[in-house]
Amino acid sequence: MNYALVTGASRGIGRAIALRLAADGMPVLLNYRSNTAAAEATLHDIEAAGGKAELMPFDVSDPKAIEQAIEAWKGQHPDDYVSVLVNNAGIRQDNLMIFMTDEQWQQVLDTTLTGFFHLTRRLLKEMLTHRNGRIVNITSLSGLKGLPGQANYSAAKAALIGATKALAQEVAARKVTVNAVAPGFIATDMTAELPEEELKKMIPAGRFGKPEEVADLVAFLASPQAAYITGQTISINGGLYT
Ligand code: NAP
Repeated sequence: MNYALVTGASRGIGRAIALRLAADGMPVLLNYRSNTAAAEATLHDIEAAGGKAELMPFDVSDPKAIEQAIEAWKGQHPDDYVSVLVNNAGIRQDNLMIFMTDEQWQQVLDTTLTGFFHLTRRLLKEMLTHRNGRIVNITSLSGLKGLPGQANYSAAKAALIGATKALAQEVAARKVTVNAVAPGFIATDMTAELPEEELKKMIPAGRFGKPEEVADLVAFLASPQAAYITGQTISINGGLYT
């Protein structure tokens, strides 16, 4: 059987993506870092809706933890593989660059960019041998436009777009697609402390987006219908000019 793996599926956009892929009939592996209660709530909601999911905690910025988690899962699922990978886990550590610490730079790069590299490389081989794969990378408006206070986050998200384009060309002939989704402002824990009333005025749609709206786009890119779309970065931002 083939599975979807969603990183950062305990909360926010990742949770909505996991719920949506499960509703579409895929068994989903729910990755998260530390918030077990939130991950269990996602699992519960998927099962209550008739879907199938399993928890798979690991820190995407830790290559050894990735290897251990995937190896353990393969041990229990020798005939199964991951055909849909959504690299969604991400953090913000905002600071003006002149004040940015080494840790703030490194943690954001390690989570978004290096996490994408290690996990995707680990899962790619089976997608290629089965000639069936969908990789969706959650980037950001910040990676397209650059946002002040986010030199680390903008760099990591822009690099993820570059990697998406390169990998898409490497694997297209084997029926594996690689795309990026670039949300604007979406209402989640990550944006909970932002001045929403002020920011809304800049957004032509006049509101923040919902995690479910991002999930609908990701589900389409993960579907068989999206077989001829690859190497793209699709914005979902209520018309915010980028
Ligand atoms: P969120 O509500 O803060 O949730 C972050 C999720 O990522 C949580 O499930 C968290 O797990 C997980 N996570 C963080 N670091 C991790 C790590 N090292 N290993 C494994 N999981 C980790 O964030 P969100 O708003 O849903 O954002 C999801 C993605 O969309 C991110 O890549 C973000 O950059 C991107 N994005 C968000 C917005 C927005 O406006 N919200 C806009 C553009 C792009 P725990 O629960 O265990 O902490």
